[in-house]
Amino acid sequence: MKEIIIIILISLSSVVFAQKPNILLILTDDLGYADVGFNGSPDIKTPNLDSLAHNGTIFSDAYVAHPFCGPSRMALSTGRYPHPMGVPYNLPDVHKGIEEWNVKGVPVSETLIGAVLKNAGYYTACVGKWHMGAVNPKYHPNNRGYDDFYGFLGGGHKYFPEEFVDKKKNGDKWLNEYVWPIEHNGKNIKVTEYLTDAFSHAAINFIRKADTLGKPFFMYLAYNAPHTPLEATQEDLAQYSHITDKKRRTYAAMVSAVDRGVGEIVRVLKELNQFDNTLIIFLSDNGGKLTAGANNTPLRGGKGDTWEGGVRTPMFFHWPGHIPSEHVYKYPVTAIDFYPTFAALAGAKIPDGKILDGKNIWDYIIHDRPAHKGEMIYTIRHRLYWHDMGARRDQWKITRIGKNGDRQNPWGLYNVYDDPGETKNLRDRYPDVFQNMLDEMQKWTETHKDSMPRWFWSKQEEQYWKEWKMPRYWQTFNEDCTLTLTDIPKKSHGSIIKDFHLKQNYPNPFNPKTKITFKLSERVHISLDIFNLKGERVANIINGLCSRGVHNVIWDGRNCSGKKVSSGIYIYRLYIKEKKRMISRKMVVLN
Ligand code: CA
Repeated sequence: MKEIIIIILISLSSVVFAQKPNILLILTDDLGYADVGFNGSPDIKTPNLDSLAHNGTIFSDAYVAHPFCGPSRMALSTGRYPHPMGVPYNLPDVHKGIEEWNVKGVPVSETLIGAVLKNAGYYTACVGKWHMGAVNPKYHPNNRGYDDFYGFLGGGHKYFPEEFVDKKKNGDKWLNEYVWPIEHNGKNIKVTEYLTDAFSHAAINFIRKADTLGKPFFMYLAYNAPHTPLEATQEDLAQYSHITDKKRRTYAAMVSAVDRGVGEIVRVLKELNQFDNTLIIFLSDNGGKLTAGANNTPLRGGKGDTWEGGVRTPMFFHWPGHIPSEHVYKYPVTAIDFYPTFAALAGAKIPDGKILDGKNIWDYIIHDRPAHKGEMIYTIRHRLYWHDMGARRDQWKITRIGKNGDRQNPWGLYNVYDDPGETKNLRDRYPDVFQNMLDEMQKWTETHKDSMPRWFWSKQEEQYWKEWKMPRYWQTFNEDCTLTLTDIPKKSHGSIIKDFHLKQNYPNPFNPKTKITFKLSERVHISLDIFNLKGERVANIINGLCSRGVHNVIWDGRNCSGKKVSSGIYIYRLYIKEKKRMISRKMVVLN
């Protein structure tokens, strides 16, 4: 029977649709792979999502382009990998007040998918979290292709309206974006209900508006749930009183609120006779955050890393009569495929010269054939020194986790069809497959190795990039590579101090003990201090008379008050006051 259905669908697949379909793209935030009923959640109930998933196609191997929010959303909206576009970092939170970056957003040279569909005659609406430019109006959704926007512009938000602040009344330009007022097309509005419900209801209003206009709609419905802060209503929490872990209970309740909203939206689509003409897509922008109650079983890792748990998302497509039902599509696809796929479904023109890293996957889905046979799907999360990297090709995945310089994690090759938890490293068994994928990925990183990110999450990250000439991809691909220290140009220090060396306790930079050795040619009064790059002294190791000969000193990465200093670049200075002799070395501290 299923074959007959697929054959009927095949015959439909390559024709121009008589009526342009509505496209409802539902994006959740940090939702775990196993946190929906259709992916086997043992405790979270999502009956409305499950019904759509089972009457549509579930994707077991769907990827996003990045393991955290901003770059993943920018990739989805532009159809491009974030790194070559220069957007591999989240925009910094507005309350950090880094004006030069807070005023930035997805480059306006990129035509977003909303604009492509608007140009094709669609009514376009964006609801929820934007996170692609919060301050400068030129990045506002209304200026990026969306007729209507209801939501917030930053990277996250609190859920109960009594905590939202009136920005103007407060007069604080750099107010924490998590408490900004919710806006509709640039105008602050008063929200009176739990935020997830407010978004569901705004979505319903826009669907009704599209119906009044008599236009097909494209809606980018980007719930911020279940992203932190973990805040849920008493009603939603009540269904999960049996979950003892408070985080998990709250998280489960937040997912239920999304499910309830999707149920309401479906009822309105049916009421308006639009349900059968609406393609509904559901996914998450990245993997579940394990420390915030999420569950990515059976995948390894989670939000922020390039194990499967960081970048493989629960996903379904639903469109009665067009998408196979009761079906699981088991081949890899990526959210950067949406752009060309939606454009094709809508009969929309893609701008000339538009760079697209994905492809139209529609016919592959309908025919149940691999959309990316023999092709690599990449993900990179920048770290210090060594990055988190992953690449999927057919059943294979290569993964390396950088974790801020922890080179104890070598590259691995996994058969993620058989071993989605990436537990068995098969690189020694399939050395050719491994090497070939590694070479391909390295070749790809060469295409953007010189592209500087347009912004960073923090000023410290920018400092690292400049100081260490990041991204230093060569280092991630070379497992024999060791840390190179950058010495400050040597100043003359006379003949008293000899052989001044620093040795970091490597390869375990998380135990940041640094061994300092030096030799004195005479007995003198010395001070040995640690300074940060602003020139502030953060620790004093020696201040007193030292004898002639070799000295070994250990610094444990703590300041004068015994607190660990923050990770960064520090300068060690050995100084002999009465002789005006000084020697310095620069070194990285990872705390
Ligand atoms: Ca996210």
